[in-house]
Amino acid sequence: MANQKMLGFVHTAQAMPDKRSAGERRQDFNEIYARFSTERADEQASRCSQCGVPFCQVHCPVSNNIPDWLKLTAEGRLEEAYEVSQATNNFPEICGRICPQDRLCEGNCVIEQSTHGAVTIGSVEKYINDTAWEQGWVKPRTPARENGQSVGIIGAGPAGLAAAEELRAKGYAVHVYDRHDRMGGLLVYGIPGFKLEKDVVGRRVKLLADAGVVFHPNFEVGRDASLADLRQKHVAILIATGVYKARDIKAPGCGLKNIVPALDYLTTSNKVGLGDSVAAYDDGSLNAKGKKVVVLGGGDTAMDCVRTAIRQGATSVKCLYRRDRKNMPGSQREVAHAEEEGVEFVWQVAPEGFTGDDVVTGVRAVRIHLGVADATGRQTPQVIEDSEFTEPADLVIKALGFEPEDLPGAFGSPDLTVTRWGTLLVDHRTKMSSLDGVFGAGDIVRGASLVVWAIRDGRDAADSMHAYAQSVKAESLALAAE
Ligand SMILES: Cc1cc2nc3c(=O)[nH]c(=O)nc-3n(C[C@H](O)[C@H](O)[C@H](O)COP(=O)(O)OP(=O)(O)OC[C@H]3O[C@@H](n4cnc5c(N)ncnc54)[C@H](O)[C@@H]3O)c2cc1C
Ligand code: SF4
Repeated sequence: MANQKMLGFVHTAQAMPDKRSAGERRQDFNEIYARFSTERADEQASRCSQCGVPFCQVHCPVSNNIPDWLKLTAEGRLEEAYEVSQATNNFPEICGRICPQDRLCEGNCVIEQSTHGAVTIGSVEKYINDTAWEQGWVKPRTPARENGQSVGIIGAGPAGLAAAEELRAKGYAVHVYDRHDRMGGLLVYGIPGFKLEKDVVGRRVKLLADAGVVFHPNFEVGRDASLADLRQKHVAILIATGVYKARDIKAPGCGLKNIVPALDYLTTSNKVGLGDSVAAYDDGSLNAKGKKVVVLGGGDTAMDCVRTAIRQGATSVKCLYRRDRKNMPGSQREVAHAEEEGVEFVWQVAPEGFTGDDVVTGVRAVRIHLGVADATGRQTPQVIEDSEFTEPADLVIKALGFEPEDLPGAFGSPDLTVTRWGTLLVDHRTKMSSLDGVFGAGDIVRGASLVVWAIRDGRDAADSMHAYAQSVKAESLALAAE
């Protein structure tokens, strides 16, 4: 009998004793998630207390009207629930699947705070919107009339796509440029298919194309056109290029074969899942099958790598992180899933080098003691003397985080101002960059963040781009009238 609390549908502080094996728990989880049904959605939705201050909504980055759509779901009025849900979120069924709800809406639900376990908001959001797709309620947002102006969007991740939908609905000719062959950004090539099915992303991209958004795949700004070229073509530009420069580790042996960056590994796995043939997967260099895998890092990307390696048939998967469980940046829910699937976490260790002649055979590491807290309140990691050990490995995946690429250099725009971290500097009220009519949204502005924040930024930027384009139009009409 599946235990809801252990399965993440009702999140409580104390899990009930569970005698199932990790494999059995996983199977139960998959079965129950696949069967999240009308009855379960009703039952979960009716647990909402409709409290005076909806903390769930306050902590949802797109300010979803959660109590309203929960109430409508509990009353069986699913089409209305869908209308309310899609009014604030361009990709609600995607957020329902991959938002870290334990840190956002559900984590702040008052029922959760009173230790009765949060309403499973994300699952209900997914259910409402998957039903809307099945029932044919989701329609392309074609504008009532064309407004005669054109905008350019660089980057087809969630920030760029959300802005594209909003601007197209306002009547702009919308052109989206992306260096990849498929649209979706990290939704398609970063986040693994077991968390976010790729057809769920694909049907959204098709919906935008059906609304008249023009996609330019395999188009790299900086290579196929400069930013200045695009500014000539469009009244306003949105830069939504994400952050892709992987943080690296410089240590003895770091050049050995089979030490790979996380995004190369995940992109390959996603391409293979989409039916592409990838040489590095076929020759085994980006394939965990039959290997002892060690993943370095403790964020959500590391969790995606360990869980992908398990699915590819690794003989063992270990995750090395220099702090302890409670201080890791990854979602605790993801860690629990990884453990259930058989991943072993080795806490408080730091890599110092790699062994092997040509191909890696192990990670040399030291154990860490967490010392006194620094100015940021985090305990400082200190190496424990004589604690060196070697963790055997046939494949090492580096998941140490991402930084922005050199945007002004790549775009041929030295006058495009960036912060000292390399993120795009924008006016946070208007989202406009240092260049007139050039806006920014998503990770390239915030640094590595979340899909739901990228959607929020894309929506806000679209509003500002609209206001800007209208002011340009008014100005040119005034000049023509003079
Ligand atoms: C492995 C991984 C797992 C994640 N899991 C989650 C999760 O479970 N939940 C969650 O909320 N968030 C998750 N995130 C974070 C989330 O994916 C990002 O915050 C989000 O995708 C950022 O959206 P974006 O539109 O700003 O950028 P991106 O999604 O990165 O899209 C940027 C797009 O710009 C394109 N581009 C870049 N440069 C150029 C150029 N010069 N010319 C043309 N196109 C260009 C890229 O090809 C890309 O398609 C994850 C991130 C990673 C790496
Ligand atoms: S968008 Fe994310 S944070 Fe907002 S209600 Fe949905 S799952 Fe929760």
